[in-house]
Amino acid sequence: MTGSEKRQIHMLRLQGKTYRDIAEGLSLKETTIKSYCSRNHLTDKDIKAKATNHAGCCLQCGGPIKQQTKRKPRRFCSDECRVKWWNDHRFLKQHKNMRMVKCAGCGVAFPVYGKQEKKYCSHECYIRSRFGGGKA
Ligand SMILES: [Zn+2]
Ligand SMILES: [Zn+2]
Repeated sequence: MTGSEKRQIHMLRLQGKTYRDIAEGLSLKETTIKSYCSRNHLTDKDIKAKATNHAGCCLQCGGPIKQQTKRKPRRFCSDECRVKWWNDHRFLKQHKNMRMVKCAGCGVAFPVYGKQEKKYCSHECYIRSRFGGGKA
């Protein structure tokens, strides 16, 4: 890995790009990016911590934020910046409270978010195992 590739990885990770995005962009292996990132404090967790510590200026544009007293501290100067940032950092939200559950119908693992109680990956699987296929 060259110095300029390393710099690009840093930059792209801070912009919220996934390991795969970066691997594709730099024509490197995803596992290479991943292990580099875990050695250099650039994992999803690290990025998230950086994001929450970044008080005072807008996470998207770096501009100043007018904090409203008695309210939760704001992280973006405008709704526009907030929407943009979340579009680029969707993966942070997806990882939150996500767990993989094995479908009781087809046996394929599928993601479940938050406190949802789901046994089947789809309505079809639910119907099939409840009413069809001979199994009780
Ligand atoms: Zn902004
Ligand atoms: Zn299923």
